[in-house]
Parts: sequence; structure tokens; C-alpha cells
Amino acid sequence: MKLIKDYLMADLTSLGVGGPADLLCKPESIPEIQAALKYAREHNLPVTIIGYGSNLLVTDKGIRGLVIQLAENFAKAAVSGTKIRAAAGCLFSSLSKLACHHSLTGLEFAVGIPGSLGGAIYMNAGAYGGEIGPLIEEITWVTEDKTGVWSKADFNYSYRHSRVQTDKVIVVEAVIQLKPGNKKEILEKMKELQAKRHELQPLDQPSAGSTFKRPPGLYVGPMIEGANLKGYKIGGAQVSPKHAGFIVNTGGATAQDVLDLIAHIQKTIKDMYDVDLQPELRIVGEK
Ligand SMILES: Cc1cc2nc3c(=O)[nH]c(=O)nc-3n(C[C@H](O)[C@H](O)[C@H](O)COP(=O)(O)OP(=O)(O)OC[C@H]3O[C@@H](n4cnc5c(N)ncnc54)[C@H](O)[C@@H]3O)c2cc1C
Repeated sequence: MKLIKDYLMADLTSLGVGGPADLLCKPESIPEIQAALKYAREHNLPVTIIGYGSNLLVTDKGIRGLVIQLAENFAKAAVSGTKIRAAAGCLFSSLSKLACHHSLTGLEFAVGIPGSLGGAIYMNAGAYGGEIGPLIEEITWVTEDKTGVWSKADFNYSYRHSRVQTDKVIVVEAVIQLKPGNKKEILEKMKELQAKRHELQPLDQPSAGSTFKRPPGLYVGPMIEGANLKGYKIGGAQVSPKHAGFIVNTGGATAQDVLDLIAHIQKTIKDMYDVDLQPELRIVGEK
């Protein structure tokens, strides 16, 4: 098991902010994950699991203890009939393309969602009316001394929430159940969704996707825009002038800039609409 010291988390996150992790480990197998967890317990180190860091805001002080990354080091996938069995580090968007290649429909919505399958399952990621939850047939998870399998019925998911968040397990693999489809139509749908993203989202700037969860029945972007905060900047962090639901790093932003901007938006929206916005991105690291 290789441990890398003082790894700068800004380099592992799409937002490009965050201080160092004390130790980073990129296991390639379940025994290696469990060895890393054992090592952390024996050395009294807190553990943080990450995928591709596309939904993370890491603080400037960085992450104490051990960061375990399941990404390209853990990324095998195979198609069998209408099912895809994939390791947690597979890119979610690549699985969408794999499904299309095999004329399987259901994962078109995932084509523009960055990050890993594990991160998508943790977050119950979704877009344009689709989400991963309903497609899950089976999830394999590990802890230091156990490996378990959840069936579809065990995987309690809701909007941007899943059982992985409460049970604190590490997702290592999942089976995604799709339906036979028409390759041309699948491809058309994927192209349409990608075009929408490029038109509406600031994909040319570092971000962590939507900053806040959508409150029931409300849209965050228009509320922030209505509060005159579109383009509002603190340090290098800015409410995207293209989509007010995103915070972008205009270059040189610190995590504190982003945290201050989040707090400012929350306060403004509370004062103006009496709505409590909850971050969708995950804030991790030493405060
Ligand atoms: C430009 C952009 C657009 C986006 N659009 C969307 C969108 O349309 N819809 C959407 O839902 N999200 C969107 N996101 C957010 C993000 O892509 C998703 O949340 C993604 O699923 C996170 O995957 P990740 O591998 O990057 O996870 P990370 O950001 O690395 O981690 C996210 C959380 O998942 C946990 N986690 C990661 N892997 C595992 C694992 N194997 N086992 C257990 N826990 C794990 C981590 O502990 C962390 O709490 C977008 C982000 C960006 C930058």
C-alpha cells in the first residue's frame, strides 16, 4: 500500500481549492482498501473517501488523516445483457457512453456529470429528470472488516441523498440495470443534453457543480439572480455570471473565499425570501 504525504487537494478537486491531505492512498483492490482502513485505525487517523473531487470543497488547511481515492485506479466495467457491472472509480460519464455503445437506454442523463460512479451513488447524482438511484440493482460496499451487498430495496435514496451517507460504507462496485434502446436515439438524447449544459453552465471555469440543493418547488439560480448576486465576487470566488447556481474559481480563489461567498448568498437569500439554502457540495477538511 503506497501512501503519499502532503498531497495538495486543490489538484484533486474540480474547484481547484484546498490545502494538503496528510496522507493519500489510491488502492487498486478491496484488500488494499481494507489494509488502508486498518492502517488508519491503528494510527488513529480519520479517513476521508473521495472519487474525482467534483463535488468537494476542501478547506485551506487541508485534510487531516488519510484520504482514500477510488478513481482511475479502481475503474473496471463490463456489460452483460442489459446490465453494467462497474467499479466505483469508473467515470459516470464514461458509463453513459458505454451504455450507448451497447444500445442501452437509461443513463443518457449522466453524460455530462463529472465524477465517479461511487460519488454518483453517494450523492444519488442526477440531471434532466434522471438519477442513478432507480437504476441501481446492486451495490457492493466494504468496511475495514466486512464486505456486503445491498439490493435495490436496501439502497434508500432520495434527492441528492443515499444510504451510503448514513451508513458510512465505501462503495466498491455496482450493477446498473438498463433497458434495450435505439443507439441513434440514445446518442441524439446525449448530444441534446450536452448542448444544454454547454449553453447554460460555466463549463470553461473550475467549479463543483451546483452550489446548493434545490429547495422543494424552488429554483436556486433564479433566486440568486433575483437577489442581484449574479457575478458577485469575494476574492477569487464568483457567482457564475453564466449560471447563478454555480460558484466558479476565477483563478487564485481560496477555500475561504468560496465559504465566505456561500455564507453571503445564504444570508442574502434568507433575508430576501426566508429560504434556507443548504450546500450540495461537500465541505471537508480542517476548519
Ligand atoms: C461542472 C459540474 C457539473 C455537475 N453537474 C452535476 C449534475 O448535473 N448532477 C449531479 O448530481 N451532480 C453534478 N455535479 C456534481 C458531481 O459531479 C457529482 O456529485 C459526482 O457524482 C461526484 O462524484 P466524484 O467522484 O467527483 O465524488 P467526490 O466529489 O470525490 O465525492 C463526493 C462525495 O461522495 C463520497 N464518495 C465518493 N466516492 C465514494 C465511494 N466510492 N464510496 C463512498 N463514498 C464516496 C465522498 O466521500 C464525498 O462525500 C457536477 C459537478 C461539476 C463540477
